[in-house]
Amino acid sequence: MTFEQRAELRRNFTASLPLWRHPLIGYLLSILLVSLLGWGQQALDGWIGGGGIYFAGSLLLLPVLFIATFWGTMPSLFTVLLGALYIDYFFIGYNQSISWQHWEDGLRILPFFISGITIAIITSQRERARWQTLIAEQELKEYAAELEVSNQKLEDANQTKDRFLSIASHELKTPITTIRGQAQLALRRLAKQDGEMNVSDMHTALERINEQTMRLTTLIEELLDVSSLRTGKMALNKSKLNINELCQQVVDDQNLLTGRHIELKLSPKEVMVSVDRDRIEQVLINLVGNAVKYSPEGSVVQVCVERKWRKALIHVRDHGKGIAPDQLEKVFDTFYRTPDAEASTKKGLGLGLSISKEIIERHEGRIWCESQPGQGSEFFVELPLK
Ligand code: ADP
Repeated sequence: MTFEQRAELRRNFTASLPLWRHPLIGYLLSILLVSLLGWGQQALDGWIGGGGIYFAGSLLLLPVLFIATFWGTMPSLFTVLLGALYIDYFFIGYNQSISWQHWEDGLRILPFFISGITIAIITSQRERARWQTLIAEQELKEYAAELEVSNQKLEDANQTKDRFLSIASHELKTPITTIRGQAQLALRRLAKQDGEMNVSDMHTALERINEQTMRLTTLIEELLDVSSLRTGKMALNKSKLNINELCQQVVDDQNLLTGRHIELKLSPKEVMVSVDRDRIEQVLINLVGNAVKYSPEGSVVQVCVERKWRKALIHVRDHGKGIAPDQLEKVFDTFYRTPDAEASTKKGLGLGLSISKEIIERHEGRIWCESQPGQGSEFFVELPLK
């Protein structure tokens, strides 16, 4: 526990005491009690006959005990001091004045003084023990809170793992079922035609098998990426490159692959960054791929590269359904898919954007999304310039 935390604890503890237990009340009351019981002691001495005082001011120990019990060490020490002065002045002092000239006088006060100090020491030890209990209690509370947080984290991780297993097994099963079905169909056809092959049927079957194998490969690659990012095993192999060139290449490839019209606006100046080329390419493919996947067939997808201050800024815009404001952050969570995407026929695991986010953040960059529902979405990637 730090010094500030202890001070805070002490403040809280003092504030939690009732007003009558404030130390100031203890000091004031000790003056009153010492006078009262001192006077009582004088009256008692007079009544007994005065001569044989063996323990001067013994009654004055009562205020010390009382003050120590309720107000603690310092006020009780103050009471001992007051008591000693009182005894010296009224019982021992010559000419009713405070005097410590004779050693016998000191000796007569000694029993009261030692008893008073003993009471104060016992009180301070009791206070210390209570204080230590309080600190231990506080530490225990903090530890319990920490434990609850890590418990929650473990529970979240467990839920993600369960979700991962159910999604992964479902997503793996679908393509495998198709591959098996197509292969069995082709085999049956081959058998029926006594070894003669209908090329068109065979072509369709192989095409379906190829498609599903590609889907499986993407899936397995994404799962491996998540696992290596989670365990910190994904090493970045950075090199200097012009982001204009990388975007040009990604857009050309995606134009060919998807057959969609993807517009590209490059920065007039070269935009040099130091990045892991394959990983940034993976992010760009994911963003352009999503823009194509989640927007209508005939609509245009735009990619733009800019230099802004000391940053490279890439945006990918589509004219699809867009994303609701409360889902803009969530789309970067592992396994998250918007209700729209879940309800559609578009396949996906909800891993691409979370992988992209991790990759961009490991490059000290930023990735975010802006969207007007019904008017499409725009994804931004910002990377530091070299
Ligand atoms: P998925 O494999 O499901 O596409 P991603 O991680 O790439 O996984 O995306 C997560 C979710 O974000 C998608 O399921 C979809 O709901 C939403 N999303 C991503 N890009 C777009 C986009 N351009 N337009 C609308 N929704 C999008």
